[in-house]
Amino acid sequence: MGYQLVDSFGRKITYVRMSVTDRCDFRCVYCMGEKMTFLPHKNVLTLEELEWLGRAFIELGVTKIRLTGGEPLIRTNILQLFRNLGKLDNLDELVLTTNGSQLVRMAQLLKETGLKRINISLDTLKPERFQRMTKTNKLETVLQGISAAIQANFQNIKLNAVILKNRNHDEVVDLVKFAIERGIDISFIEEMPLGTIDSHNRAEAFYSSNQIRKDLRAVFNLTVSTEITAGPSRYYRIPNTNTKVGFISPHSHNFCDTCNRVRVTTDGYLLLCLGKEHSINLRDIIRQNPNDLEVLKQTIIDSIVYKPEGHNFKLGRELQIMRYMNVTGG
Ligand code: SAM
Ligand code: SF4
Repeated sequence: MGYQLVDSFGRKITYVRMSVTDRCDFRCVYCMGEKMTFLPHKNVLTLEELEWLGRAFIELGVTKIRLTGGEPLIRTNILQLFRNLGKLDNLDELVLTTNGSQLVRMAQLLKETGLKRINISLDTLKPERFQRMTKTNKLETVLQGISAAIQANFQNIKLNAVILKNRNHDEVVDLVKFAIERGIDISFIEEMPLGTIDSHNRAEAFYSSNQIRKDLRAVFNLTVSTEITAGPSRYYRIPNTNTKVGFISPHSHNFCDTCNRVRVTTDGYLLLCLGKEHSINLRDIIRQNPNDLEVLKQTIIDSIVYKPEGHNFKLGRELQIMRYMNVTGG
């Protein structure tokens, strides 16, 4: 048996999410403000540094890595990182979260790197709403990207939809129908208060997972899935379909007691909890100790004591977490 990272509360850390870029071709209203400044390139981890970090985590017992962002697929040469991480022993799952804008040209190439699972964000099926929520008019491109991913035959495709009251809450049934017709999964996400945004008051836009389940139950027979997953999602099945419906409910369901994950920001900070500011600079450790994996591993081991027992997001106007989701890696 190899080493296993365990935090002060006995939780095994087996899952790392890495933000590979803070840049994005969308400007989703819940994720970014109107005026964003992006990291200087020198602060962004190189693809080699990201792979090096992946190695360190895997040697510490991590078995799942998610590449996210910003939009991971707009990072130059990102396919190489998928190939290199995919080759590492003891990594059971390498997964991607994407907004889907690049999938028409990249789905097949991603499949060829060995990537098996992919999450695609889709909040609405209506072009004008898509424009309002993402500040782009690329709905059709994303829909074609979803088709390209289905055609590339990934083992699993899941849609992610952030639901905001009076923006897209009336589309939850249509989004589930869309997923059922394509034989793919879907998760609904409650908005989290990360970074300052201009477009709406997050408290007023809150639409709970409970409410979504109520809306869905008017049309579908949702049965609780017996699958046990470590992490924030709770899953339901719809009989006679291949679709699983998940709910990520940071407000209405506190999932901290089973948290198995940490995050690495685009600039190489280890973030132990999405709902807290505390972080450790791994980029300097990597750059000051090139080729020394042991120092990096020891720093990670020493940092895990800072993983808090939990967080408690509050809704309201006051800013709680300064970081934006695109740097953090959603
Ligand atoms: N650009 C990619 C995408 O949109 O899928 C990957 C990065 S994005 C930050 C990852 C996920 O975080 C997306 O599903 C997005 O909807 C979600 N997200 C962004 N900001 C959020 C917020 N404030 N609360 C909840 N989810 C958020
Ligand atoms: Fe970009 Fe994803 Fe954030 Fe939307 S949610 S702005 S697609 S990083």
